[in-house]
Amino acid sequence: MDDARLKYYGWGREGEGMSAEERKFVLGRYHAKFGTGEFDTIAVPRLEDLSLREPRVLPPASLSPFCTAERYDRAAHTYGKSYPDYVRAMLGNYDCAPDVVAYPRNEAEIAAVMDWAGSVGASLTPFGGGSSVCGGVEPRVDGIKHKAAVTLDLRNLAKVVEVDPVSRAALIEAGTYGPSLEKQLKPNGFTLRHFPQSFEYSTLGGWIATRSGGHFASLHTHIDDFVESLRVVTPAGVVETRRLPGSGAGPSPDRMFIGSEGILGVISRAWMRLQPRPKFRAGASVRFPSFFDAARAVRAVAQAGLYPSNCRILDPQEAFNTGAADGSVAIMVLAFESGDHPMDAWMARALECCTDHRGTPEPAKASGAHLEGAAGIWRNAFIRMPYAREFLAPAGLINDTFETAITWDQFEGFHDNVKGATERAILEATGVKGEVTCRFTHLYPDGPAPYFTFHALGRHGGLLEQWQAIKNAASDALIAAGGTITHHHAVGRDHRPWYDRQRPELFAAALRAAKRELDPQCILNPGVLIDP
Ligand SMILES: Cc1cc2nc3c(=O)[nH]c(=O)nc-3n(C[C@H](O)[C@H](O)[C@H](O)COP(=O)(O)OP(=O)(O)OC[C@H]3O[C@@H](n4cnc5c(N)ncnc54)[C@H](O)[C@@H]3O)c2cc1C
Repeated sequence: MDDARLKYYGWGREGEGMSAEERKFVLGRYHAKFGTGEFDTIAVPRLEDLSLREPRVLPPASLSPFCTAERYDRAAHTYGKSYPDYVRAMLGNYDCAPDVVAYPRNEAEIAAVMDWAGSVGASLTPFGGGSSVCGGVEPRVDGIKHKAAVTLDLRNLAKVVEVDPVSRAALIEAGTYGPSLEKQLKPNGFTLRHFPQSFEYSTLGGWIATRSGGHFASLHTHIDDFVESLRVVTPAGVVETRRLPGSGAGPSPDRMFIGSEGILGVISRAWMRLQPRPKFRAGASVRFPSFFDAARAVRAVAQAGLYPSNCRILDPQEAFNTGAADGSVAIMVLAFESGDHPMDAWMARALECCTDHRGTPEPAKASGAHLEGAAGIWRNAFIRMPYAREFLAPAGLINDTFETAITWDQFEGFHDNVKGATERAILEATGVKGEVTCRFTHLYPDGPAPYFTFHALGRHGGLLEQWQAIKNAASDALIAAGGTITHHHAVGRDHRPWYDRQRPELFAAALRAAKRELDPQCILNPGVLIDP
């Protein structure tokens, strides 16, 4: 990892952020949207001004070489990166700061921290990059079962341990951040090619624990299919699964831990399936008169078995907000890639699907076409956007995203329902008309994964309540209309009410039974996914 510290508030490292020009562009869009002059902006408290309670527990001498109760470490592990996380941090509310942060260097130290946390009645929160957007890393204390909170940051488990070039797989430690993981694989000519938007500041263990969605729009959408085997440290012992290319031997033990969001154990390392580095690429941007035309083209592409690596569509407003178009057309960002063969034939067929649905391809440029035109503009905005939230919340703006999946037969009605319910909730909660936009992040032959963004003009003093009212309405609409509460952002605690309605009750009982077996004292992530 780089030397600069990760910010205790905000995205990335200290010293990083949007340039003045980028800020001006982003805020300019909001000024235009809400017809306002300057926003009423409040200052974010400095680290030295935060008031943190005295730690309720301190580690024994045997653990102190890799544990700390320093102000910076506790503050930087209090929240993830959701909108309410930013607001509470901006208000200086650090009530749920962990008492101790542990940075174990190996599995024995993970197990030692687990034992100690259990013995002092502390909850234990596994922490990768802390990029959770659903309340997954916030420490919990209830004063009864959990009297203190310990966070277990895995950043010291950051190596690619072994590469098997024959089977094309690598054994990778769970705390490895995205850029370091790719850097270590590069000399072997391989890549994991799992690039969530949070890639720079999230870890392999976090991706597996949350079933994260990478940049592949189709086929390898979630991390799940890249996992060959796992090692998980649980309070009841270590679980290691067998390296196999596939197995029909009963329910998959890997699948039990993939997506378990830290409630069953700490993933310490995994054998991951690798990809060759892409040598052949084809890319295009396509304009459509409407979002639903673009959606029909996506369905045609998905059902033709073409498996594009990227096939995002942006509705006209979303395309405008990122600067990719003027607000009158929907945009498709389309790409194919391969380490083995040219993709021109796949691209040609996909473009036929687009023109069948009123799409007009932007003329392709000679080289590097996958990053030209609207596609390139959108990609730059996509990469820089995480830095915006740290100044939008202080300006009293409410900006958040939520994502889902739905079958094609229901998509158009579903979209209108969810968008309408969210727009009404914004107006009701803030008294000002807001904006809800939509894009697709992933696609399947039987349906898309729509990703909504909303923008509202909030009021200082009421931002959390206003956000919650909008979030509730949007989530209610998703579940009522047949979608999932999350396609890839995970459940954490924030999505619990709707996850509880979505998952079968007997399944929850089975999950609780697994938790009882693996974490009998229930120290790991209380309240995430299930109530023990
Ligand atoms: C700007 C931004 C963009 C994002 N883009 C995407 C995206 O494109 N796709 C996507 O899927 N998500 C995205 N997310 C959400 C988030 O990045 C993912 O959920 C990611 O997988 C979390 O990884 P992490 O290492 O930061 O985990 P953390 O946030 O630290 O932890 C997430 C959860 O997993 C648990 N956990 C972490 N590590 C382990 C471990 N080793 N063993 C057991 N449990 C563990 C934690 O306790 C927590 O419950 C985005 C978030 C932000 C802020």
